Amino acid sequence: MKKLIELRNVTKAFGENVVLKGINLEIYENEFVTLLGPSGCGKTTTLRIIGGFVDPSSGEVLLNEKNILDIPAHKRPTNTVFQRYALFPHLDVFENVAFGLRMHSNKVNIQMQINKLKEDYQLKIEHAQDSKTKKLLKDELNNEIELIKDPNIHLKLKIKTIKEKIQALDKTSADYKTLKENYQKEIKTIKADFETPKVREQRLTDKVMKYLAMVNLQGYERRSVHKLSGGQQQRVAIARALINEPKVLLLDEPLAALDLKLRQEMQYELKEIQRNAGITFIFVTHDQEEALTMSDKIVVMNDGEIQQVGKPEDIYNEPINTFVAKFIGESNIIEGIMIDDYIVEFDGVKYPCVDYGFKRNQDVDIVLRPEDLDIVPLGTSPISGVVDSVAFKGVHYEIDVKTKDRIYTIHTTDYQPEGKEVSVSFEKEDIHVMEKW
Ligand code: ATP
Repeated sequence: MKKLIELRNVTKAFGENVVLKGINLEIYENEFVTLLGPSGCGKTTTLRIIGGFVDPSSGEVLLNEKNILDIPAHKRPTNTVFQRYALFPHLDVFENVAFGLRMHSNKVNIQMQINKLKEDYQLKIEHAQDSKTKKLLKDELNNEIELIKDPNIHLKLKIKTIKEKIQALDKTSADYKTLKENYQKEIKTIKADFETPKVREQRLTDKVMKYLAMVNLQGYERRSVHKLSGGQQQRVAIARALINEPKVLLLDEPLAALDLKLRQEMQYELKEIQRNAGITFIFVTHDQEEALTMSDKIVVMNDGEIQQVGKPEDIYNEPINTFVAKFIGESNIIEGIMIDDYIVEFDGVKYPCVDYGFKRNQDVDIVLRPEDLDIVPLGTSPISGVVDSVAFKGVHYEIDVKTKDRIYTIHTTDYQPEGKEVSVSFEKEDIHVMEKW
């Protein structure tokens, strides 16, 4: 995969308050990246810096290896979907999605496009090596401006050339009539390709329908946006952002306002939309389940710093520290000692494990996930205790077993009554050893 965006040592302070403390991050084409962390950790600020809505205090933001900090938000190849989707209440679904495209074809926007083109070329022309390249660039610029002013310009030029050929024909020659007719046929074919208002509207309709289908809203074109559920409104907002064909879509907690069921449905749909659109999504959330479901890559943040970057499975199975372990899922976190490679000790018992590369007798933290623990008959493993509480969670029981050293939380489908004496067991692969931070 090709690298698209890179943050290099990005910091941000609001007055005395340092909210980003040196963020380094690489984001690739077609990736679904989630910035995950508790409220106030700096996720939204990071997203806003990428979108160009906030300037960093120091550091660089690169897009395709070029620093984009001087490029204002509206000129970056990014589009943002916010938590509170601002749809136009007086427009229906179709017109809400078509809005951006219509804007592009009005006069003010045509002038804006021309100005932007001129700005872009200005720099290129200034840096051109010689006068020949300068001239070429100027011609290219004029060509592009003509095309923006009149999308049929090239076709019109072709017709002009053919008409000149007709003029130049020898009227006395025997095949004059046939040649002239052939040329006129050619003109007719070219004219059929003209972008008329009708053709333009058809192209716009096709595009709007393509994106409405992508967000699963076929048949809703003429529905007023008031008459949509929260999830449907959010899909309109996503289609409206996608139709501008950005390279990157920035999503700031877009599902936060939805109820749980809709949110879960939308999680799968968003991933599907991202795959179909073939662009990069950068998604902000404080919901670990959401992050695990959708992401190719999760960036766990805390207090203005990145804690861990990795695939959902890696973050879940191999959390780098206790913060990540606690934030990503329920865990039993235990202090222990790494006796040697593949041997760890906690609560006075040495266990074989799969971790290595620590110092001998190094103090470590150990994660045991509740779903990795089993309740076994008393005395069949070194950890024994009493069932302290039992709660039914829909698919499993959450059972706390109190030992002399601690309480273990266990997820199991086997019911155990409170007060029963049991043992707790696990495999060596289930022990996750982490450096203490
Ligand atoms: P949340 O999930 O609550 O939105 P977050 O991780 O997205 O949190 P940010 O919105 O990036 O966090 O905010 C990080 C810190 O920066 C917070 O302490 C916040 O109060 C502060 N902050 C954000 N924007 C500004 C601002 N414009 N002026 C001053 N402080 C700000």
